[in-house]
Amino acid sequence: MARGHAGKIAVVTGGANGIGQALAVRLAEEGVDIAVADLQPAEETVKRIEALGRRAGSLICDVSNPDDVGAFADFVARKFGQCDILVNNAGFYKTRRFEDISFADWRRTMAVNLDSMFLMTQAFIAGMRQRQWGRIVNIASNTLGSVAPNHVDYIASKGGVVGFTRALASEVGIDGITVNAVSPGLTRTPGTLEGQFRPRGLPIEEAFDLVSKTQAIKRHQTPDDLVGVVAFLTSDDAAFMSGQTLVVDGGLVRV
Ligand code: NAD
Repeated sequence: MARGHAGKIAVVTGGANGIGQALAVRLAEEGVDIAVADLQPAEETVKRIEALGRRAGSLICDVSNPDDVGAFADFVARKFGQCDILVNNAGFYKTRRFEDISFADWRRTMAVNLDSMFLMTQAFIAGMRQRQWGRIVNIASNTLGSVAPNHVDYIASKGGVVGFTRALASEVGIDGITVNAVSPGLTRTPGTLEGQFRPRGLPIEEAFDLVSKTQAIKRHQTPDDLVGVVAFLTSDDAAFMSGQTLVVDGGLVRV
């Protein structure tokens, strides 16, 4: 067990499914109470966390909407009192040629993947500064360093996530707050498996087979492959590490 988790409160965005759900459950196993913000109901996540003996709560919230994020921050204050750990995980990806991305599509991707981090972090940073302790983990993507055609809006937004992480780390370290990013590789989640997502132009199972052959570790990535690194980054063991992006993708992309 990593140090410093006991009694902490974490906010996990997009925690109803996929990677966010796995991260929320793992932090609960480490002794953290969890608040989930998601567009979809997160009952399953909440039940799994409560079964571990931790407190959990969720609110329907579009993380790209300032009013929703404000209402979620009020919910966290009322139910949990504070947020010590913020995992900005909610994200959106869709396969489409650059010429087929409308300006409205582009703005939506930036809003969900990047504005969300600005809004959520602004909602919780003051309390972290006051308590002189905070952990922020932003979920980026290894596509930023790969050949991954037909996802220009997505990859540009994830470049923004890495820039946001690096820049914010420089301002908040003085108050005991670290900010890091984690870049997953292609991971088996509801979002990737839903059928319309075609990495490298391939049907999804073919894409998983192809991508896993190019990894150092030759198997399909699952959300559980990401939980250990986030448990570490949100603990006291990672207190001297900030502004970094850790690629967790079976050893495909090297940075
Ligand atoms: P997913 O689609 O399986 O789950 C995403 C969750 O976020 C869902 O519960 C969804 O309802 C929620 N969500 C989406 N838009 C939201 C919004 N506007 N407000 C609130 N909640 C919202 O996705 P996933 O594959 O688990 O991806 C999670 C994160 O990991 C994303 O940031 C994604 O870009 C990143 N990522 C995923 C992969 C992958 O292969 N799965 C690879 C690299 C990075």
